[in-house]
Order: sequence, then structure tokens, then C-alpha cells
Amino acid sequence: SYVGIHSTGFRDFLLKPELLRAITDCGFEHPSEVQQMAIPQAILGTDVLCQAKSGLGKTAVFVLTTLQQVEPVAGETSVLVMCHTRELAYQIKNEYARFSKYMPDVKTSVFYGGTPIAKDAEVLKNKDTHPHIIVATPGRMNQLVRDKHLRLGSVKVFVLDECDKMLDQIDMRRDVQEIFRATPTQKQVMMFSATLSMEVRPICKKFMQNPLEIYVDDDAKLTLHGLQQYYIKLDEKEKNRKLNELLDELQFNQAIIFVKSTLRATELDKLLKDCNFPSVAVHSGVSQDERIKRYKAFKDFQERICVATDVFGRGIDIERINLAINYDLPGDADSYLHRVGRAGRFGTKGLSISFVSSEADQEVLKSIEKRFEVALPEFPAEGVDASSY
Ligand code: ADP
Ligand code: MG
Repeated sequence: SYVGIHSTGFRDFLLKPELLRAITDCGFEHPSEVQQMAIPQAILGTDVLCQAKSGLGKTAVFVLTTLQQVEPVAGETSVLVMCHTRELAYQIKNEYARFSKYMPDVKTSVFYGGTPIAKDAEVLKNKDTHPHIIVATPGRMNQLVRDKHLRLGSVKVFVLDECDKMLDQIDMRRDVQEIFRATPTQKQVMMFSATLSMEVRPICKKFMQNPLEIYVDDDAKLTLHGLQQYYIKLDEKEKNRKLNELLDELQFNQAIIFVKSTLRATELDKLLKDCNFPSVAVHSGVSQDERIKRYKAFKDFQERICVATDVFGRGIDIERINLAINYDLPGDADSYLHRVGRAGRFGTKGLSISFVSSEADQEVLKSIEKRFEVALPEFPAEGVDASSY
């Protein structure tokens, strides 16, 4: 029976009309589950600690609820969003741009390292350009505060995306803590990730007061249903030939290939280009301008294959990616989950294939299967039906 089934729409959240218009323009019809659970309380200023599967719209939770609450005052920043990589900061800034298109008075800026700090300082010095919302990576953010280019006395909302990653890396955690201390005690704090281990939850909660806690109740439910996951056992020296074969045989829209180092990314990218595959590499070995350029080229579908290190392992949202290959398997199960989650965004279908070439890889494979209660079968010799991913 349909009795009692109520389908919530974005209208039910009582958002500003400017926001609702932008949501419609973005083509969002129905809020996802995590959006239904988090948005109503978050717009009231409640602290939120939120774990939800990759690709199901955590970004819109904080972008919409902060835009709903922001009251722009010239020269004052009231919303601070931080994340762990520069490309992700850039991507989040673009989400703010999309959703604030009918809020011309609200200014958002993005700040991250690898670019001249003088430019950021310039933006902050001028009342007409000073942002109300800042998206930043913690290193640059902290430097701007330390050098007194920015005061955080009017911050009302403090957001961490990929919070577990930000808090378990010691340098980043220190920056986050310092920035946190420079903001007023009374504020809303929101944190998000697809992975929130039992160990990291209390660390997150130290930053919060009575948070609304949303967790995917067991890790087995973290796997994406639309995503088919396989492994291929092979020798290290067979990887290139196998990859070549897969890229030839599989039908995909866009593919992301993960490697374990900058050097390997450069080399593999070159090899693919030599074989006439339209590839681009994104890693920390290229200049920041160039990194963003390549990210854009890939996101805009100018390139179909991206070779990346873990800088693209989390958060990056490119809707046409339906193939993720772990050329090098990551070192732990959580990283695996984030990486393969780059394919199959917002419930779409996808395929992931992981190369397993060492004893250590075997162990990681086992830990993935155990932690997420997922069977990772061997990639079938006859391949898989292209309509299934
Ligand atoms: P997460 O951070 O949870 O991994 P994202 O916030 O990056 O996921 O969202 C994944 C994709 O889903 C994005 O392209 C986003 O635009 C899209 N999306 C989010 N919410 C909705 C919605 N309610 N309807 C349609 N698409 C959505
Ligand atoms: Mg995200």
C-alpha cells in the first residue's frame, strides 16, 4: 500500500525562492536520502556530523544550508568551508556559484596553496571583493589568518568536507584546529565524509555541540549498488599490457586510473598518449594552474581518461566517469571505497577493476571484502556486458 509514503521535495525545506530556482536550474528533482535527513535541521543551525555514501549529494547539504542562512555583510566572512585538496576546493566553489546564481549579493572565494598568496590578500583587502563565504584548503587558510589578511571573528558556520581525511593527517589537523580556534565559540559546525570510522567520530565531535549524527548504520551498506567491482590478478610487469587491452575493449564514457605515485602517473600518462589514448594526468607534480586546467579539461569531457594519484581519490565529482581502475591498489580499504566511488555518481552505473599484483595487495583486497562485506570477484575472461555499467 502507498499509505504513509510521502515523497519530500526541495520545496518542503522552506528554502529561499532564489535557492529553489537555482536547484531547479541544476536539474535536481528530488532530494536524496542524506539531503532529506540533514537539510531540515542544518538550516536551523544544528551541528551535523554526516556519513553517507559517495556520490549521493553531501555537498548540496552544506552548500544549500549555508546559502540559506548567510546574511551578507560587506567585509565579513560568515561561512568557512575546508577540504583536503585544491581541486576539491575549486569544485566546491563552483557548486556555490551554481546555487547562488540568484543571490548576486553573496560573494564566494576559493583559496588554496600553490598560487600567489598576494592575490588572495588583495581580494580580502578590498571590501567590494571580500567574500562572505570562503572555500579553502587548511594550509593556505591558516597562512591567511596568521598573516592577518583575514579575521574570522564573524564566522557563523564552519564546515569540513572529507573530515576524516582532514583530521587524521597531522599537519592538516593542526591547521584545522588553529583556524577553528580563531573563529567565535558560538557557531554551527558541520562535517561530512563517506567514511567515518568509530575512531574518528569522537575526534570530530570534539568540535561540535549536540550534533545531529547521521551514519550509514553498517559498513556493508557503504558499497554502491550500481557499481560492479572486480579484481584482476597479474604481475606488475603485465599491468601496462592489461590496461591497454581493457581500455581497448571496454566501452566507457570517462575513465579514471589510480596510481600510487606522481612518477608513475607521469609515466603512465605518457604511455597512454603514445598509444593514442586521450589521457591527462593529475597529481601534485604539476603546477597548480596546470592542475586546475587539467581537472577542467577532464570535467568538460575534453579528455576521456585521467591518470591520477590520490589527490583525485576523494570528493571529485565527474558525472561521466563510469570506469575506475586501480592500476595500483591503495593501501587501505577506506581509500579504495573513495576511489571507486568516483564512478557511479548519484546512483548511476559504473565499473571498477583493481589490479592485484603483490602479497600486500592480496591483504588489502581481503580487508576491503571484509570491511564492506562485498564479494570482489575476478574480472571474467569474457568481459562484462557494456549495458551493465
Ligand atoms: P558526495 O559528496 O556525497 O560524494 P556530491 O555532493 O559530489 O556527492 O554529489 C554527487 C553528484 O550528484 C553531483 O554531481 C551532484 O550535482 C548530484 N546531485 C546531488 N544531489 C542531487 C539531487 N538531489 N538530484 C540530482 N542530482 C544530485
Ligand atoms: Mg563529497
